[in-house]
Amino acid sequence: MARNKYDIDEVIEDKFDLNQLKRVFQYVKPYRGQLAIALFLMLSSSALTMLFPMFISEIMDTYIPEKNIRAIVVITILSLVIVLYTCVCIRFKIRITSRIGQAIVHQLRSDIFCHLQELPFSYYDDRPHGKIQVRVVNYVNSLSDLLSNGIINTITDMCNLIFILIFMFLLHVRLTLICLCGLPVLMGVIVFVKRRQRRAWQIQSNKQSNLTAYIAESINGIRVTQSFVRERENTSIFNYLSDSYRSAWMHAVKYNFIMWPCIDSISTVTTALIYVIGIGWISGGLYGVTVGILIAFTSYISRFWEPINTLASFYNSLLTAIAYLERIFETIDEPVNVKDSEEAVPMPPIKGSVAFQDVCFSYEDGVQILNKVSFTTNPGDTYAIVGPTGAGKSTIVNLISRFYNVDSGKILIDGTDISSVTLKSLRKQMGIMMQDSFIFSGTIMDNIRYGNLTATDEEVITAAKTVCAHDFIMEMENGYQTQVNERGSRLSAGQRQLISFARALLENPAILILDEATSSIDTETEILLQKGLNRLLEGRTSFIIAHRLSTIKNASRILYVDKGKILEAGTHEELLAQKGEYYKLFMSQYDFLVSKQN
Ligand code: ADP
Repeated sequence: MARNKYDIDEVIEDKFDLNQLKRVFQYVKPYRGQLAIALFLMLSSSALTMLFPMFISEIMDTYIPEKNIRAIVVITILSLVIVLYTCVCIRFKIRITSRIGQAIVHQLRSDIFCHLQELPFSYYDDRPHGKIQVRVVNYVNSLSDLLSNGIINTITDMCNLIFILIFMFLLHVRLTLICLCGLPVLMGVIVFVKRRQRRAWQIQSNKQSNLTAYIAESINGIRVTQSFVRERENTSIFNYLSDSYRSAWMHAVKYNFIMWPCIDSISTVTTALIYVIGIGWISGGLYGVTVGILIAFTSYISRFWEPINTLASFYNSLLTAIAYLERIFETIDEPVNVKDSEEAVPMPPIKGSVAFQDVCFSYEDGVQILNKVSFTTNPGDTYAIVGPTGAGKSTIVNLISRFYNVDSGKILIDGTDISSVTLKSLRKQMGIMMQDSFIFSGTIMDNIRYGNLTATDEEVITAAKTVCAHDFIMEMENGYQTQVNERGSRLSAGQRQLISFARALLENPAILILDEATSSIDTETEILLQKGLNRLLEGRTSFIIAHRLSTIKNASRILYVDKGKILEAGTHEELLAQKGEYYKLFMSQYDFLVSKQN
């Protein structure tokens, strides 16, 4: 798929796929028993309330002329009992439907989140994270009411309509036929509105997605925004996106403003018609219409249009929901293209020899990033990968953990092709530390334990001591129990990196991949980091995208990468002696480091 941004709408599906509704019913299926109970409660209570107009007709036409007070009292008590029963039914229905709605939404949310956990990096490369978040949170939440109350109310309303029609026909066939004259007009309105309304809700969901994407991006980039004093520009982009969302929403609800007045007008006109014709028939003594029948009938008419009104509003929420469901199922159905093959076996314990054999790779079709990269490493050695920005260094290390599939060629670890082993068993034996060491919200202890959830407190502390992180942790107000927030804004870059060293050590990976931070760090922290790093590297094959001269010089071998190819490989001294690309890079970029080291 094409790359997407907050200012690019996602593609809108033209045709509605009915299978989506079928899939929703799969989520509803486990609760069909409870739904049936709720439905029974609603139907029984509404069937009983249908008797009220009949009662009125009987009282008017029979019991009042007969002065039968006893019968009137009995009917009044019966009506009260029905009202009480209805209240109890509604209370239970609300309880059941709320519970079911939330359970279904929880299941949908969990399915989409589980799938997101498995989707490869390429999925996240292609779209803003806010557009993914809006699907898991907003879209799923807005389905809750539809999937519980919506279903029950629709079935109840449809049954009510049938009940009412039966009672109306029982009361007076001709008057009922006059009342039904309004329905073809309503059908015409629905046909006119349907397509336009669906498209309007799809556009609205796109605008909501764009807005969320921009909010997420702005929050993540707030430091840069404030340091470049871009608040005003950001606010105007935000206002533009928010306004697009507002007008898309207004456009979508405009169709409700067509629908409801239409239903109201049709119902008013037919009621007036029934009164005029009914009174004419009473005074002419035609077709057996009495005052009681006319009053009862008009009471049914108002009840007849009531469910049609709620069905119309359900129809509207259904169209909104469909727009959201398209996005939800699109995410759940997103193919996981980096996954275990059918014959995948667990990766045996890794000794540490990594071989690239003519590896070609591209992120996007037609833009080749790695071009026939080949190299082989010895177990236990440290490999520094150097080269200009954009050369393909991160890409090489991302492929070792199989975050992406290679286009052609092979990557072997101890002679085993990594595409033939399970991802879990492969990645479990690798430690990866990105340049910006990610810190999760929680305690420092939790953050280190992330590397091995079964590690004891003592093991966590030993790991921290080994990589020289213990001292600074103990200086914090609550030591290992100090709370840090997401991304570790309370910690310095060096401290974050030491925590990530301890985390990696606890994981005890056979292969370590490290994207070294470029930020300049004070000499004391640099020494500390180097010490921590040396202990971490002991006994494992390591790949370091190296920026610090000390790391590069200490590496067993250096791979010099440029334009997706390995141009030179050797030790620091060998490469300097070659006086090739590494030598030039070293001379131009690391001059100041040399002076610092000397
Ligand atoms: P280095 O680590 O050497 O700076 P990278 O491996 O990150 O370089 O990038 C190599 C090339 O691949 C660059 O041209 C970069 O623009 C491109 N690239 C990196 N990541 C992606 C991605 N997720 N999608 C598309 N292109 C990418």
